Amino acid sequence: MLAMDYRGPYRVRLSQKPMPRIEHPQDAVVRVTRSCICGSDLHLYHGMVPDTRVGMTFGHEFCGIVEQVGSAVETVKPGDHVLVPFNIACGRCHFCQQGLFGNCHESNAQATAVGGIFGYSHTAGGYDGGQAEYVRVPYADVGPMVIPDWMDPDDAVLLTDVVPTGYQAAEMAGIQPGDTVVVFGAGPVGIMAARCAWLFGAGRVIVFDMHDYRLDFVRRYAPAEVYNFKEVDDVVVFMKKTTDGLGADVCIDAVGGDAKGNFLQWLTGSKLKLQAGSAIPLHWAINSVKKGGVVSVVGVYGPTGNMVPIGNVVNKGITIRANQASVKRLLPRLIDHVRKGHIDPKAMITHRLPLDAVADAYRMFADKLDGCIKPVLVPHG
Ligand SMILES: [Zn+2]
Ligand SMILES: [Zn+2]
Repeated sequence: MLAMDYRGPYRVRLSQKPMPRIEHPQDAVVRVTRSCICGSDLHLYHGMVPDTRVGMTFGHEFCGIVEQVGSAVETVKPGDHVLVPFNIACGRCHFCQQGLFGNCHESNAQATAVGGIFGYSHTAGGYDGGQAEYVRVPYADVGPMVIPDWMDPDDAVLLTDVVPTGYQAAEMAGIQPGDTVVVFGAGPVGIMAARCAWLFGAGRVIVFDMHDYRLDFVRRYAPAEVYNFKEVDDVVVFMKKTTDGLGADVCIDAVGGDAKGNFLQWLTGSKLKLQAGSAIPLHWAINSVKKGGVVSVVGVYGPTGNMVPIGNVVNKGITIRANQASVKRLLPRLIDHVRKGHIDPKAMITHRLPLDAVADAYRMFADKLDGCIKPVLVPHG
């Protein structure tokens, strides 16, 4: 079968790989119908995630038709069109039982923090992902959900990561009615976090980014007040001024370790890799949230350390909440929001490409060309 094939930093291509097969009675093999490229795939593409091995197929946001199931699988059958959460979760361990499907203790032998993730390096279990014609899906009774008849597959594929991650960012922030919410990053997750902040009762939603076309999109879509941080002298001072000197009630970091906006952070985090990515939005969030406020982090950082102003966190009494989204826990609520029209995920899809254009798609997405917000690969199109 054809699959995206990582060859080293900044190099991906399409290759022939062996067809995935049932390796365990709880597996399914899924024929991919849609597969997105995610902002966090760019962390892999840029060589920022440890133990990203040559030959890996990325892709943790996909849906497809069940082709084959193992003997123990009961809830999905061949022919079902399913959306598959990016977390690989056993459904039975201590953490899955609490709904922490992103922290499954069984699906990732390599780490004690994050669970397994499709196509996300051996740090996240070494599972091949869905930027391919076919993919093996472990624990097929736990993650995959049959796409409701009324739902557009373009909406379904965004329910595998972008929508739940943005939603959980807003949920973890504990937004109170009337709160001023700041979102750093106008990628798809930041856009969705801004949109969902209103569902939790926000009174004012502000988004910072450096790409005007993304700011234009989120200004209309969320809707939100938007600012290009390159045109703002100092983000923290700016936020103080616009909140009567108090700071925002809630700040959301929807960027992670690929951030730009501060030379020293970029040099030590992104260029020299002396820390696990450049934590610029995290600094901005900690320093522009009010005393007693909440910082919610869904941006992806590497597993090693970052320089973070912990003294300010203590002295201001800030609550920091963070996690990978627990997709399965959130799906029933999110499907309901899509059905009622509260969220329109597919509006974020700007590019639709065949699988064999995967190398171009990565380049375009990484370089923020052609107004790209969310590219989706269509393997069998
Ligand atoms: Zn993703
Ligand atoms: Zn588990």
